[in-house]
Amino acid sequence: MMFEERLREYIDANVPIVYIAGYDDKSAVETILKVTGRRRVWEWNRMFGVMDRKDITGKKSVEKKEILNSDISLEKFILSGVRDGDFDEKIVIVKDVASYLEDDDMIALFKNACLRIEEGLLDTVFIFISSTLTVPKELEKYITILEEEFLSEDGIKEKIDLFIEEQNSEIYEKLKEEMAIAFKGLSALEIDTILSLAFSKNGELTKETLDLIMEQKKQMIQKAGILEMIPIKESMEDIGGLNVLKEWLGKKARVLNNMKEAEKFGVELPKGVLIAGVPGCGKSLNAKASAKLFNVPLLKLDMGRLMGKYVGESEKNMRQAIALAEAIAPCVLWIDELEKAFSGIGGNGGGAEVTTRLFGQFLTWMQDKESAVFVVATANDIMKLPPELMRKGRFDEIFYVQLPNTEERHKIFEIHINKRRPMDLQKINIQELVEKTDGYSGADIEGVVKEAVENAYVKGNTEVTTTDFIEAIEATHSLKEIMGDSITELEKQYKERKFKSAS
Ligand code: ATP
Repeated sequence: MMFEERLREYIDANVPIVYIAGYDDKSAVETILKVTGRRRVWEWNRMFGVMDRKDITGKKSVEKKEILNSDISLEKFILSGVRDGDFDEKIVIVKDVASYLEDDDMIALFKNACLRIEEGLLDTVFIFISSTLTVPKELEKYITILEEEFLSEDGIKEKIDLFIEEQNSEIYEKLKEEMAIAFKGLSALEIDTILSLAFSKNGELTKETLDLIMEQKKQMIQKAGILEMIPIKESMEDIGGLNVLKEWLGKKARVLNNMKEAEKFGVELPKGVLIAGVPGCGKSLNAKASAKLFNVPLLKLDMGRLMGKYVGESEKNMRQAIALAEAIAPCVLWIDELEKAFSGIGGNGGGAEVTTRLFGQFLTWMQDKESAVFVVATANDIMKLPPELMRKGRFDEIFYVQLPNTEERHKIFEIHINKRRPMDLQKINIQELVEKTDGYSGADIEGVVKEAVENAYVKGNTEVTTTDFIEAIEATHSLKEIMGDSITELEKQYKERKFKSAS
């Protein structure tokens, strides 16, 4: 149901308080004025005090507002309004209410007003408008929350059509479809603003509009501060080896890049992949490169930032993170170090309870997910992960990455030398380096290449030679040396659990 319809229903049903959260102020008031029915609308805000927004004849007056009393506190306003009957047959809007709802006196006043409304002694509907949601326990039963709903793709298309008609312009169907997908997740007002901005820049809607939309979404993500939008430089060509994983991702790319067609054919929307394995062997690299391969933005979820200090805050953050990712979809949602986020599940104590709840929320979402959010979760130590996560239906597949084999090391050396010293590549005996680096991770090899190049430069040489690389190798401890038996143990466990090898 649309926002307007729901609001009308609540007002007709005489609910004491409607709480509009996270909605753009102006369009919220506009909508309220459309559905007021027989009531007059008063508004209180910090800046102007009390204003009359609409007369009973039903004239809309978003711009026309009459200040009734510019010098009255919210407390006095509510107190006198209820006591003297001024609120009868009114809708009373209270803006930026969140901070007042932490004050006991204010809560008591509202509670008293709500009781009178319930008893039929007062004919008022309070509408709270605020960017944040604060619901005190004492008012819980009186408050109906109305959160912003995003327009559907068809709704957005209608909006674009209307805009095009108003401007006497034209748009070709394919661009309109792309735009409708891109606009998903933005509020009606944001959509209007971008359309006007794009139009005034170019005199028509062009492909550039898509860039403006992406820019707006980036800001949305930044403001929320839970997800990070990662710029992607890496592509599949930057990954040496891991061919099985790369091929698998390539198949998913075929589906994601032709989603509508694939779905029509009966293909299920991919959910995501869990990549486990030893550090420094290309897990993060794969998360980044898959976003590039799918040609979609990459969002990184930081579990540390998700955990809030208030009751219910972490769950709210998780909900918001999911909503944001779905708004940006199609996208890749990268959850790094998954085991850190969900360790301690099922344990005792407040912290463990929160993690358990978060985990449940995440599982349900993964299970029911219908949006094109492709999850790439990476983990070092899969043994710390709860088994429910590994059941079929959550991730499409679970891969493990091992230390690179000889062929893979060859490729990794090539990639990193080519990045820094393409002119030396032909002269270097890579095979010799490969033989000397058994037990080295991809990150170790990159370290060796960096070191060799720097040393050659510092020595004043004009080129980097095989000897420089060998010296760098000899100065490095491989991951296998550092981790010892635990690597072999991990690999044994992965195999026992029948995870797929990425190579
Ligand atoms: P961690 O668990 O420590 O985050 P990771 O498996 O995610 O490790 P990456 O961050 O992907 O490791 O790798 C670190 C760096 O090592 C990469 O930026 C890349 O330069 C290099 N590297 C690792 N594996 C490969 C590979 N297979 N091909 C090319 N470079 C690699």
